[in-house]
Amino acid sequence: MKLPSLNLQILLGAIFGVAIGLYFHSMGAENNVVQSGLYASGLVGTLFIDLLKMILIPLVFCSIAVGIANLRQHQQMHRVWVTTLIFFISSMAIAIGLALIAGNYFKPGAGLHLAMFEHAMQNFEAKQLPMPEFFAQFLHGLFVNPFTALSQGNVLAVVTFALILGITLVMGGERYKNILALLQEGLEVTMQIVGWVMRLAPLGIMALLIKLVAVQDVAMLSTLAKFVAVVVGTTLLHGVVILPLILYLFTGKSPLWFWRGAREALVTAFATSSSSATLPVTLRCATQHLKVKPEIAGFVIPLGATINMDGTALYEAAAALFIANLVGIELSFAQQLIVFFTAMIAAMGAPGIPSAGMVTMVMVLQSVGLPAEAIAILLPIDRLLDTLRTTVNVEGDMVGSLVVQKLIHNKG
Ligand code: ASP
Repeated sequence: MKLPSLNLQILLGAIFGVAIGLYFHSMGAENNVVQSGLYASGLVGTLFIDLLKMILIPLVFCSIAVGIANLRQHQQMHRVWVTTLIFFISSMAIAIGLALIAGNYFKPGAGLHLAMFEHAMQNFEAKQLPMPEFFAQFLHGLFVNPFTALSQGNVLAVVTFALILGITLVMGGERYKNILALLQEGLEVTMQIVGWVMRLAPLGIMALLIKLVAVQDVAMLSTLAKFVAVVVGTTLLHGVVILPLILYLFTGKSPLWFWRGAREALVTAFATSSSSATLPVTLRCATQHLKVKPEIAGFVIPLGATINMDGTALYEAAAALFIANLVGIELSFAQQLIVFFTAMIAAMGAPGIPSAGMVTMVMVLQSVGLPAEAIAILLPIDRLLDTLRTTVNVEGDMVGSLVVQKLIHNKG
């Protein structure tokens, strides 16, 4: 019997995952079948993420170094670099703008009071994260001994070293052609392994979704329904309307074409809530399905997975307004401007792992004097919201690679 295509299998895996998760949820956590089911899905889901993480670091290292080195001329490298950063910053700015507009209009949290959540906040102590310290930490984390970074799976530091290595290879030209050839083959080999890991994707994604849906805290979700609706609505608006529109305006590509090619990565991002774990799949979709040149994708996608987070930026701003409403503080225009900038920095600094945005959000709240402990209210619903924002984070990276490719091509 012929199996359906991998894309279809992944989609079916996701649908079954949600359905079985809902069924388990309705049966209750004490049920024996549910407990064994959750144990099995925990095993399979973790195995899938472990496999992606196993290949992640060699892949990022080779793809960035090779990507940069293949840009060859110095001028072209400069253009890709600048265009990519402008794209990342602009798309995150639009996302935050949407969150602020929606937050001011719908005012989620107004009518609720901080005191209602005392129980949630009782045992929670927010770690201080003042902006200067955060910045110093971020800068400090960029330059690390590459062997330490590689062995510890430190994505940001690996990205930085690979960038420097790539630039050196461009400068050295012929002299370092053997190293470049080695890295190039390394990239091909790792992509081959990603292809094998993806065979497990339908099962892995199903397992992750079963677990996620089965253990949701529904009570908190309904108390915060308005906030959840605003976040989900604006995130969807950004992912379904704004990003595809940007793609269409710059490249003329239709949203359907894009979604067909990007589907594997989007579903993986949804199920894993981790841009980093999804990165191997994102690169595969960009180069193989969306036909982005490896030298552009190899640079834009790994960099994007670490710093370009539209969904996270949007969420951080929306949450700040929500907490201000809870506390009963009306944020002035100047304060909202501060939220705008800190949300962008906080999103850029958040690593691509589940709930990372919640950690860096402390900085956004502190920047306008809001109580960081209020994050405890959002923690129980975070894993659920994280699914969607990670999907949009990953979508932004793929749209970015297509737009950058088009802009470079037009000028080149
Ligand atoms: N989970 C997100 C990501 O990996 C980061 C976040 O928590 O917002 O992209």
